[in-house]
Amino acid sequence: MIEVRNLKKSYGTNVVLRDIHADVQSKEVVVVIGPSGSGKSTFLRCLNLLEQPDSGSILIDGQPIMESNRSNIHEIRMELGMVFQRFHLFPHMKVIDNITLGPVQVRKWPMEKARKKAMELLDKVGLTDKADALPDSLSGGQAQRVAIARALAMEPKIMLFDEPTSALDPEMVGEVLSVMKELAQEGMTMVVVTHEMGFAKEVGDRVIFMEQGLIVEEGTPEQIFENPKQERTKAFLSKVL
Ligand code: ATP
Ligand code: MG
Repeated sequence: MIEVRNLKKSYGTNVVLRDIHADVQSKEVVVVIGPSGSGKSTFLRCLNLLEQPDSGSILIDGQPIMESNRSNIHEIRMELGMVFQRFHLFPHMKVIDNITLGPVQVRKWPMEKARKKAMELLDKVGLTDKADALPDSLSGGQAQRVAIARALAMEPKIMLFDEPTSALDPEMVGEVLSVMKELAQEGMTMVVVTHEMGFAKEVGDRVIFMEQGLIVEEGTPEQIFENPKQERTKAFLSKVL
């Protein structure tokens, strides 16, 4: 579903992605871990062209996305939902309007269809009673669940999560992770950058360990957590586990 080859990205002289090779299969949940500054966010942002890679190739469903021109960049982005550490909801819009905006403006859905879908998604994330609330009145966990619903409203094929729980108070982490777990069980293809090792073990099909712009090691959660091969993986895990 996603094929990444020889992906490179620098900011000036700072080489952030050195040479990334990665595959994500349909319905797979890939968890990306690694120290701060290792390039995890940059990698995710390259996948939906929020960053322009310097070289290499990215295929999504067999389609090379890096040769895309401005006119189809939106089509590519529509296939990839993204959830960030900070929720980026539009503060002046009600929850429901945050969710219907993309489908109506980008997918050109009629409002009625978009609202019906939005209410289904709010039900899924347990927030039907917040449809008319403004984002500022929500807790962090609720806001992040709205952000997930908003991304899902576009009916993406793949969901990218960049540390979706690291800005949350501890008691709200679980409610967001359980929505993500449910999504995984429904067969969503997901790439998740997270420090939640419990989630990685329980929900991840594969774990990728990145350091200094390279994938140092990857494997099943058991392989990576119980029996890491690389010293650098062991050193990182000894700090976070
Ligand atoms: P963290 O765990 O802290 O989120 P990360 O693994 O996600 O880290 P990135 O955010 O991808 O790491 O950053 C990798 C490197 O790229 C860092 O050195 C960072 O300073 C640099 N970097 C990231 N974005 C930019 C940017 N827009 N302009 C310049 N440098 C950037
Ligand atoms: Mg990051």
